[in-house]
Parts: sequence; structure tokens; C-alpha cells
Amino acid sequence: MSQRSCGTNYLSWALDYLGMDERLCAYLTTPYREITVELPLLRKNGIVVFKGYRVQHNHARGPFKGGIRYHPEMNLAHAHALAELMTWKTALVNIPFGGAKGGITCDPAALDEVEREMLTKLYTRRMANLFGPESDIPAPDMGTGPQEMAWIYDAYSGYTSGHHPGVVTGKPLQLGGSIGRIEATGRGVSLVTKWAAEALNMSFPDVTVAIQGFGNVGVHTARYLKQVGCRIIAVSDVDGALYNQAGLDIEAVRKTCEEKKISVNQALDYGDSIKQDELLALDVAILIPAAIGDAIHEDNAPKVKARLIVEAANMPITHEGERILTSNGITIIPDIMANAGGVTVSYLEWIQNRSGLIWNLEEVEKKTDHILYQAWCALCRRRQNELSYRQAAYLIAVERVAQSSALRGYI
Ligand code: GLU
Repeated sequence: MSQRSCGTNYLSWALDYLGMDERLCAYLTTPYREITVELPLLRKNGIVVFKGYRVQHNHARGPFKGGIRYHPEMNLAHAHALAELMTWKTALVNIPFGGAKGGITCDPAALDEVEREMLTKLYTRRMANLFGPESDIPAPDMGTGPQEMAWIYDAYSGYTSGHHPGVVTGKPLQLGGSIGRIEATGRGVSLVTKWAAEALNMSFPDVTVAIQGFGNVGVHTARYLKQVGCRIIAVSDVDGALYNQAGLDIEAVRKTCEEKKISVNQALDYGDSIKQDELLALDVAILIPAAIGDAIHEDNAPKVKARLIVEAANMPITHEGERILTSNGITIIPDIMANAGGVTVSYLEWIQNRSGLIWNLEEVEKKTDHILYQAWCALCRRRQNELSYRQAAYLIAVERVAQSSALRGYI
């Protein structure tokens, strides 16, 4: 994530293009608040001190909003870059939130469940004065899920001695989570992919797709794309990739990997094992990076043959990677549009929590589709021939945040 740290190049370009004044530029390029905390966790062999972060980037349009990442490479700079991205994502889909991101430098797989609960609650207690349904609302990100959100909810409730389910989204259904939240990011990716593919005159069904990453986002993206007739010919995880030109049986691969606790490249009943880098270079119509940041860079970008890349992960392409892909005529749908289905359903969860309503899946999907489609149409309108989807997305988002900021005043 180092090269793209802060997304600042895109922001600077947008500020310049829009001719924003110096005061606004200073305001939008600096985060509102950055917090680092020390988290001493009692483990079997003694105390280990972990580091936790929360960066609140901007809240001109509403409460800070963004996920909590547990990853060995998580640090303050990543939190900053990802928080800024959330500001543009929430603005692009026009939901009343700002942007934030937090996390802990840790390998969650190396912690047992009691340790993960203790660490999560310790982190929440340190951040409790920042969090709140009206001020800063965390959610899942890499390495966290509904269980961590339940612990955050519990620790926050202890701090405020009340019930405030709207303090965190992505909770389990039993604690006020929204139906459809788990699948939301992947489902949104599949919708946006279909719209983008249609804009490129790809004819459905039987568009070929390769997906890098087989976690929550990758799996659900694959499932929904299969439903609209795409042929998923390769998927990968941290250990390797699985390829089948005739199309993978996604349900069967997922089930086998889960039951046998194996990596996708070991599910050989369903395809052949290939290297992760080979997946990126496959002759497919659509490539979907749904794993880590900076996955496509100057070394592997020249080998990409797909016509369309849809960024299911946050910041999966470096600046140099993007330059190469663009000069090879490849269309890129940016993260802030492609994966916004997640935060959109978080918004719907937050509304349900605050109103006491409980919507069914049909209602949640209908509202999500409406929000995402409005954003997609605005993006297509804004995009003139010489602008990329990313440039158009930044222009819309930065303009919206700038307008709210200017109306509020700076003093
Ligand atoms: N972590 C997700 C993202 O990057 C979801 C954030 C949220 O729901 O607040 O968009």
C-alpha cells in the first residue's frame, strides 16, 4: 500500500482540476484526528503490547464511518490512506457519513478466541470516547467480522451503560445486524461489474472472470456473478489459485475448502492448481482483485489481459500499475464505487438500529440497488471521454465534501 499511500495523487489531481482554494485543499488533505493506542494483552507467556489505530479523516457530511482491520501490516499510514478513501466512498454513494478507518497490527489467526475478544474490547475501551452512533461508527474490514463487531458493541455498551446498536455496523443479526450485510460488498461488486461490462458492450451470459481473493468479498462476488451468467474460470487465496476454463463450481469449491480446511489450489476435484500471478495474466474479460492492497503493480500490470478490472479490494492497484493498465486500454472501476455495497448496507443497518425498524432482504436489496445505481449513473454522467472512472469518482466525491465543508464554514 506504500505507493498509493493516502490516495493523495488522485485527491491532488481532483483539487487541481476543480480549482479548489488553498483553505479547502488544506482541509481536505489532512485528517481530522489520528489516534494510536497501546494494547497490553495478557497471553499465555506474558504481556504482549499491540498497537491500535483510528484515523478520522473527514466528517463534513456526517459521522465518521469505516472499518476495523486486523492485519500484521496494519499501521497508522494505512489507516490514514484507508480513512481518506472512506470519505470519498461515502460521498460518492451519497450517504450521510464521513470517512474513518482503524485497526490493530496483529495476525488474528495467531490469536485464540479469548485473546481476540480481550484485544477487541481493550481497543474499544481505548476508543470509546471517539465512537458513537452520532460520531464514529466502526464496521468489519480485513481480519474482522460480525463477532468482533459484537464485542465492540458489548464493550461500548459497558462504557455508556445503555443500548446503542447503531455504534457499530456489520453486527450479527441477533444483535441488530442487518440481513444482507455479510454478502453486501460482494453483491455490490457484482452489480457494478455487470453495469460496467454492459457499458463496454460485453455480452452476457458467458463473460469470463478471474477473482483474486476468496474471502468474504471474493466468494460472494463470485456467487452473484455466476447468477448473472458469468463464467468464473479462476479464483485464488493466499496459498495459490485454482483454474478451470469451463468455469468453477464456486459453491462446491467453497464448501470443500471450508470442510477440509484446505486452500483453493488444493480443491483439485474442481480445477487445476496455478500460481497466483498466472491468475492475473489469464485471458479473461474481467479481472477482480478482491484481496490485499497493491496487488497489481508495475511488475505484473504489463501481463494483464483482461479488458475490465473491478476493484473489489481497497487500493489493489498502485499508481504505476494503473498507468500501465490504462495505457494498455484496460478500463478500471475504482474501489470507491466497486466495493461501496458494504458501507451502503452498513448505512441501512444504522438506520434500522436508530429507527427500531427491521427490514427484510428484499427491502434491503432494493434500497441498496437504488443507492448504488444512483451513484453509478452519476459516475457515468460525470465521466467525459478524457476522464477515467476513478477521476470522475474523485471529482464527484471531492466536490460533495467540499460543498458541505464550505457551507459549514472553517472557523
Ligand atoms: N470496511 C468496508 C469498506 O472498506 C466497510 C466499511 C463500513 O461498512 O463502514 O468499505
